[in-house]
Amino acid sequence: MNAQIGTVENPLRIAIIGSGPSGFYAADHLQKQKDLIVQIDMFDRLPTPFGLVRGGVAPDHAKIKSVTKVYDKIAADPNFRFYGNVEFGKDLTHADMLKFYHQVIYAVGAQTDKRMEIPGEDLPGSHPATEFVAWYNGHPDYRDYKFDLTQECAVVVGVGNVAMDVARILASSYDELVKTDMADYALEALKNSKVREIYLLGRRGPAQAAFTNPEVKELGELEETDAIADINEVTLDPLSKAALEANPDSTIQKNIEIMTGYATQSPKGKPKKLFMRFLVSPVEITGRDRVEAVKIVKNELFQNKDGTLRPRATDKFETIKAGLVFRSIGYKGVALPDIPFNDSWGVIPNKDGRVHDPKNDKIIEGEYVVGWIKRGPSGVIGTNKPDSQATVNMMLEDLKQNKCFSPALPKREALESMLSEKKVKFVTFGEWQKLDQLEIQKGQALGRPRLKYTRVDDMLGALGKK
Ligand code: NAP
Repeated sequence: MNAQIGTVENPLRIAIIGSGPSGFYAADHLQKQKDLIVQIDMFDRLPTPFGLVRGGVAPDHAKIKSVTKVYDKIAADPNFRFYGNVEFGKDLTHADMLKFYHQVIYAVGAQTDKRMEIPGEDLPGSHPATEFVAWYNGHPDYRDYKFDLTQECAVVVGVGNVAMDVARILASSYDELVKTDMADYALEALKNSKVREIYLLGRRGPAQAAFTNPEVKELGELEETDAIADINEVTLDPLSKAALEANPDSTIQKNIEIMTGYATQSPKGKPKKLFMRFLVSPVEITGRDRVEAVKIVKNELFQNKDGTLRPRATDKFETIKAGLVFRSIGYKGVALPDIPFNDSWGVIPNKDGRVHDPKNDKIIEGEYVVGWIKRGPSGVIGTNKPDSQATVNMMLEDLKQNKCFSPALPKREALESMLSEKKVKFVTFGEWQKLDQLEIQKGQALGRPRLKYTRVDDMLGALGKK
């Protein structure tokens, strides 16, 4: 029976949970298997596809978002279906996977943030950067969040690309933001923002910063903001200097060159200032009823046993008066119902993409992971392509050995009847394309690239599905 899987009579039925880049690259690699007939059903709990490309990539990075053209081609394959507005664990369960599919891929990304574990972290005015990003990008779950932009000073903790995005959005002018596809309510709020000073805090030195060259360069090109660094903090300490001499790295060298520019040139007197700070860690967020200041400690670097340079606190403290804090120290995965989860790492435990159950130390046949829920929140969009291909290669290998589910109803009609019985108003890829066109048309009427729908009800209403 299993020998026939992947034929016209018995197509290989695959479910992909999540419709971000890693899910699409997995679908792409499956579609490239010429000797297999593969039916792919991709699910997302939102009516809209593309995960962080829609909800995470900064609105002013339109070029990065154009990667969705590649995903459109994958979705155009007649054997591919998108089911938006279908939540795994509620509308569709783990038991359904076993009933309707031969193999399932979890591509759900990392939906929450890491915590700093310092006093005051939960004071009003202190937010995970992930929430701010989701808010300005119009994610339905976050559109009603409030950020007090009447504050004049904001601190962004972390020096990864997300921290850079958050700092840049806070530092951008209205003219810069109106050209983007930022959610309309966020554009309005940022238009009235009183934030004039932004601090970016790196706990290690400039050579260990996680951001890339274009992101640090952009900070120096903002209309209303001067990027400023301290020459003492961007000058390399002896340990970093030796490490860089031993292993030259052009990205790090260019980052330092750009920041040395910010430290040595005189500010142009623009109305806002963005300070890049290094070798400092927040130790406490203080305030009576809300954030009023961030106490930071100066760090020094030491070489760890594994050779990496780590931060160690000194006895020198400083206080930054600030009313807003954005903690941008990394995303973290969230557990899915009935699927193993490693809480400390925030990933689904796996061996090369095969889901692994730590309780009995066994691979769970038929279940796979790709993207951030597989390897943690690292890498750019393109990193997901080889990562997803590697997992799909494992799936194909397993299939040859009949290691897969034996579904009782491996038929699309059976899945769709189940969803209809549950009254799930699923959104197809064609319907998403209709929403996409409507968003573009509404944007064009305002001279903007797009005006996003930010409420699920409005999306369903626009599709006549309410
Ligand atoms: P990230 O690149 O891992 O950066 C996290 C930052 O937080 C690092 O600077 C890290 O410092 C710092 N950090 C961690 N724990 C900390 C603590 N307890 N206290 C102070 N600082 C702490 O994560 P991300 O910025 O969330 O980005 C996630 C991934 O998405 C990255 O691969 C990123 O490149 C990618 N991304 C790319 C783009 C783009 O291409 N434009 C845009 C956004 C995101 P240490 O190094 O000392 O740990």
